[in-house]
Amino acid sequence: MSALLFKKMSELVDEEAKGLLSRGVDVQSVMPAVVEIVNEVQERGDRALADLTERFDGVRIGKVRVGKDEIEKAGDQVPEKLKKALEIALENIAAFHHQELDRDLWMTETSPGVMAGQMVVPLDSVGAYVPGGRAAYPSSALMTVVPAKVAGVERVIVCTPPGKEGKVNPITLVAAEMAGADEIYRVGGVQAVAAMAFGTESIRPVQKIVGPGNIYVTAAKLLLRSTVEIDMPAGPSEVLIIADYTAEPEVLASDMIAQAEHDPQSISVLVTDDEDLAIATRAEVEKQAKETARWEIVKESLEKAAILVAGSMEEAISFSNSFAPEHLEIIVRDPMTVLGEIRNAGSVFLGPYTPVAAGDYASGTNHVLPTSGYARAFSGLNVDAFVKKITVQKISKEGLSLLKDAITILAEAEGLDAHAESVRKRLVERKLEGV
Ligand code: NAD
Repeated sequence: MSALLFKKMSELVDEEAKGLLSRGVDVQSVMPAVVEIVNEVQERGDRALADLTERFDGVRIGKVRVGKDEIEKAGDQVPEKLKKALEIALENIAAFHHQELDRDLWMTETSPGVMAGQMVVPLDSVGAYVPGGRAAYPSSALMTVVPAKVAGVERVIVCTPPGKEGKVNPITLVAAEMAGADEIYRVGGVQAVAAMAFGTESIRPVQKIVGPGNIYVTAAKLLLRSTVEIDMPAGPSEVLIIADYTAEPEVLASDMIAQAEHDPQSISVLVTDDEDLAIATRAEVEKQAKETARWEIVKESLEKAAILVAGSMEEAISFSNSFAPEHLEIIVRDPMTVLGEIRNAGSVFLGPYTPVAAGDYASGTNHVLPTSGYARAFSGLNVDAFVKKITVQKISKEGLSLLKDAITILAEAEGLDAHAESVRKRLVERKLEGV
């Protein structure tokens, strides 16, 4: 039986509210272990990867890089209907992320003769972490590699933990290959993040690491962000559902359990202004939890879950904004009105026919999203993560004359006389080459 928190919001004690908002996911608590693993990889390279994979994944690996023959074999092993499903997902993800692309170069005239603009340039290399400890995540291979390729990144590498036989899950291999991954490595966890950041004999370092993972992977990304750029802390999954009387308890319960089956540290929260719905959903959660295949994980995760009865829809929305959920489902009579009040969330799912699972796999939006409240300041993975924006300007002699006073006065006020002089020197009576 799950021991989820069931309460009226007005009766929540401080401790309970704080516990929910912090998720009880304490990245710092694993940091000492993460630092040790990172140091080992930095010092011993590939040999450390083999030892650490043996320790954490229970298998001794030979070559870290997955060879062409293993990728081809995976292609033969994966049934056609699964490949078809991956293709549909891939097409929708690519179509969605193409929409996110900015123009390559734009210029605007900010003042007469002053053209200023921006050009978008892809990163050279990106490392995609594809989780694979408790479950395989071929979908994460699509979600990380596809937008990188849409953005134009030349070298996209994938790291994912090997299974007990030392092989990468064949569906993950097929998905990574379909998405256009250039190199695939059988290494996961902290050791994979460290290898992508510092490089080893077999893995060349990358400029940025993206992708979700468990608390260790998330801690490693946060630790190494001064060495390598990262996307965001995308740790154990979570959902918050805002529901009213129109919602079905059976559907709400299945969405809560779907989130709980990811990780014992995943969190599912329902906030509703309808007490009867809350009571019925709790009963459904208990019933469905017993029937789930991943009972051990679900049971532990549901101990952190909560069903809260709000005094009003405003109170429910306000709690959701403080919680800043990774996934936010809004299952109410008029979801668009509630959407207008949302300030913090990774991704929003509107109405009764829009489960989180759609975004997890195939609707096209990205499923790599900020967790643990990071949605207050971070966005989910999108093509912007894979590009740099370089500003550009071109000014005519007349344009510079018009700006001269503004520039020289400000430069001199900052005591930077040479800056002012660099403008004056151009405007003396002589003609410079070029337009
Ligand atoms: P994982 O690949 O993230 O982690 C597995 C690795 O963790 C192992 O290879 C091992 O190296 C390491 N590890 C395990 N125990 C360790 C220990 N005690 N010390 C050091 N390292 C250890 O796979 P997972 O565990 O299945 O987790 C996947 C996670 O990704 C879940 O939490 C899921 O919710 C999350 N996820 C998040 C998003 C998102 O966008 N936020 C999307 C998909 C999945």
